[in-house]
Amino acid sequence: MIRRFFSYYKPHKRLFILDFSSAVFVAILELGFPLAVQWFIDSLLPSGNWSMIVSVSAGLLALYLTSTLLQFVVNYWGHKLGINIETDMRQQLFQHVQRQSFRFFDNTKTGHIMSRVTNDLMDIGELAHHGPEDLFIAVMTFVGAFWIMLTINVKLALVTIFVLPFLVWLITFCNIKMNKAWKRMYGEIADVNAQVEDSVSGVRVVQSFTNESYEIKRFRENNGRFRLAKLAAYKIMSFSASGVYMLTRLVTLIVLVYGSWLSFNGQLSYGELVGFVLYVNVLLKPIDKISALMELYPKGMAGFKRFLEIIDTEPEIEDAKDAIEVVSLRGDIRFQDVAFSYDKHKAVLQGIDLQIKAGETVAFVGPSGAGKTTICSLIPRFYDVNSGSIKIDGMDIRDMTKKSLRSQIGIVQQDVFLFTGTLKENIAYGMLGATDEQIADAAKKAHLQDFIASLPDGYETQIGERGLKLSGGQKQRIAIGRMFLKNPPILILDEATSALDTETEQIIQTALNELAVNRTTLVIAHRLATIRNADRVVVVTEDGIAEEGTHDELIEQGGIFAGLHNVQFQR
Ligand code: ADP
Ligand code: MG
Repeated sequence: MIRRFFSYYKPHKRLFILDFSSAVFVAILELGFPLAVQWFIDSLLPSGNWSMIVSVSAGLLALYLTSTLLQFVVNYWGHKLGINIETDMRQQLFQHVQRQSFRFFDNTKTGHIMSRVTNDLMDIGELAHHGPEDLFIAVMTFVGAFWIMLTINVKLALVTIFVLPFLVWLITFCNIKMNKAWKRMYGEIADVNAQVEDSVSGVRVVQSFTNESYEIKRFRENNGRFRLAKLAAYKIMSFSASGVYMLTRLVTLIVLVYGSWLSFNGQLSYGELVGFVLYVNVLLKPIDKISALMELYPKGMAGFKRFLEIIDTEPEIEDAKDAIEVVSLRGDIRFQDVAFSYDKHKAVLQGIDLQIKAGETVAFVGPSGAGKTTICSLIPRFYDVNSGSIKIDGMDIRDMTKKSLRSQIGIVQQDVFLFTGTLKENIAYGMLGATDEQIADAAKKAHLQDFIASLPDGYETQIGERGLKLSGGQKQRIAIGRMFLKNPPILILDEATSALDTETEQIIQTALNELAVNRTTLVIAHRLATIRNADRVVVVTEDGIAEEGTHDELIEQGGIFAGLHNVQFQR
């Protein structure tokens, strides 16, 4: 997994090298400064050579400036590296999710995908920047500082290292507590968010029951729990910071006292003492960084693992190796002994044989849950059959490319999905890059022109969450407009008019009838009145296709269809 993580650095190799080498350089300078101070006090000061002191100071200033500049590079370009990797991964994730088959979305919650695209990737980005760099620098400065301290004075170095276990214990202990506290806090804020979402989207219900004070009371409790959780986290944080402060000061003091004693006995020069005190800080600083990494690493890696889970899910339905690009199919559809199930436990379709001639309009009726929608989802290969085959114009749909097959099929459903954007963009979704004339023509055919003309912004009207709200019938007509632009030879209308009132249904029905001209059309209908024009009716029940024939034939037969018909048109 680590190797895969590093593979994301590859496109940004130069950035990584720039950042990494700058960081190493900063660390080396950091390590060198106390030595310089030591030399300054011990050799330069006693010499009394003022001009030398000035020029050495100038040199030091130049080094400080370089270090400052390099620190800027590390901060800016290092984060840029992290952001670049994060952006690459996010793009890859989105592309991968777009390619997934329907079954993936049946089994994956939108919220989970969302949290991967946002939170997880941010954690990964932070780790990508800080991980390798901080770890290397921390180890390097720690080892370097300790080594130099040993060369200055072994006894003093050993005394210093003696407090280290306490410091590590304190930081680790606080870190574990901190992680628990943050986790608790995330849980509480999730509750707060959930209630805000609930009470805001359900505000009409809240107010109609005048339960505002109940909601407010509940919110106060949630909000209060969040406060306590966050407070607990900060308590540990403050404790940790104070503890680290105390320990580092304590070491400094011990070094000062013991060092002075050594100095009295002529074992340590003044410069060495000052240098040593400075090194104590250099030595202890990386411990903080490493402990931060200990928090960042599991968080980032857990996110990366979840990221890989999606990336490693291959789309279920992909093109065969020598798949054929089909253009302008006639629309002759044939199901041969088709069996299908969404999961192993329950067969949804079995032994389906069906022939639909090009240009024919076939209506599917039957109880809800019988499998009408499922039959239609198999034609564009949203799912693959378990056994048997589906052929269009005599060719198995699995031998066609997914893209070209789907370009030949148009689907209008009961719920029309509109994207945030303008009316025009939403109609043009049927044919990206359609000209204004083509869009206007499609709108006209979908009986949308009067409605659009009545809007102050016309085609440029914003729709969706923050825009104009459309009625079911208006949405349906946008879907029909899209279809006129797409102009596919095969059309599937899945309860397209079921949710509409009878008056609106009339207009939509007219538009749909015009759309169906010269196309193979599959109509799934809830209301039998809408299928009068069908050439043929197929009755689907849970046991498969029960009846097949023209409207009048089926009435004559007096079977299931006749029964349904009588119920709907009685009195
Ligand atoms: P109809 O359109 O005739 O009402 P469907 O084709 O929607 O029926 O559903 C047929 C059966 O398949 C039902 O039992 C339904 O619960 C099940 N089903 C439909 N869609 C899915 C899905 N995405 N995942 C699992 N089961 C499904
Ligand atoms: Mg259905």
